[in-house]
Amino acid sequence: RLEIRNLVRRFQGRAVVDNVSLRIMPGQVTCLLGPSGCGKSTTLRMIAGVEMQDSGEIWVDGKLVCDTVFRVPPERREIGLMFQDFALFPHLSVAGNVAFGLRGSKEEKRARVAELLDKVDLLQFIDGYPHQLSGGEQQRVALARALAPRPRIMLMDEPFSGLDNRLRDGIRDETLTLLKEEDTAVLLVTHEPDEAMRMADEIALMRDGRIVQQGAPYNVYTRPVDRASVAFFSDAN
Ligand code: ATP
Ligand code: MG
Repeated sequence: RLEIRNLVRRFQGRAVVDNVSLRIMPGQVTCLLGPSGCGKSTTLRMIAGVEMQDSGEIWVDGKLVCDTVFRVPPERREIGLMFQDFALFPHLSVAGNVAFGLRGSKEEKRARVAELLDKVDLLQFIDGYPHQLSGGEQQRVALARALAPRPRIMLMDEPFSGLDNRLRDGIRDETLTLLKEEDTAVLLVTHEPDEAMRMADEIALMRDGRIVQQGAPYNVYTRPVDRASVAFFSDAN
C-alpha cells in the first residue's frame, strides 16, 4: 500500500503541492482529479522519486521510502510508472520492452513476458517491434512493461490521453482488470471527471495544490464541496 503524509513542494515560494496526504490499499484505484496546473504531476513525480519534496513523507507497504533526510532511489521503490508519453524503446522487440525491468534467469523472464503479453492479448506480437503496432497496442505493451516487475504501486499520469475515443474505453477497462488481478495499489492522475468516474474506487479532488475533497466517485460527483468544484465538474462536461 501507498501512504503519503503532508507532502509539500514549493516553486519560487509558491506551494504547488500543499500538504497532500493519501492512502491507497492494494487492488484499489485512487484518481487524483483536478484542473491543469493544480499539482497532480508534481505529486506523482515526488512519489516516483524523480522530484524531491520540501517536506512530508512517503511510505510503501509500511516502509519509509522518503522524507526530508532519508531517500530510497527511484529504481528501488517498487513503483511502476505509466505516462502519456512513456514511449516504448523502438530498437527493442515487444518481448525486450516488457522484459526491460525484469531480473532473473532467461527462462523466468520469458515466462513472465509471455504471461503479461497473453493478458493484454498481444502474445502474437511477442517478437514484433513497436513500429509494427497501433497506438492502442503500444499502450498495452507499455502497460505490460510497467506491470512486469510486479510493482506494489502503479503511478499513472494521464495514460490514456494519447488514444482516440474509440480505443480508450476498451483499454481503460482492460487496464483496470489487469491492475486488479495483480493487486496493485494505483494512483491515476487525470483532469477528466469522466475518466475518474469510470476508473476510481476513490477520487481525490485537487485544486491549487490541495486535496479539497476525497471519497467514493458517486459522493464526490453528487455532493461537491463548493462552487469551484461544481464548476469543475460542469465545465469539463
Ligand atoms: P496538467 O493537468 O496540466 O498536467 P498538473 O496538475 O499536472 O497539470 P503540475 O505539472 O504538477 O500540474 O504543475 C503544478 C504547478 O507547478 C504549475 O503551476 C507549474 O507551472 C508549476 N511547476 C511544475 N514544475 C515546476 C518547476 N520545475 N519549476 C517551476 N514551477 C513548476
Ligand atoms: Mg500533469
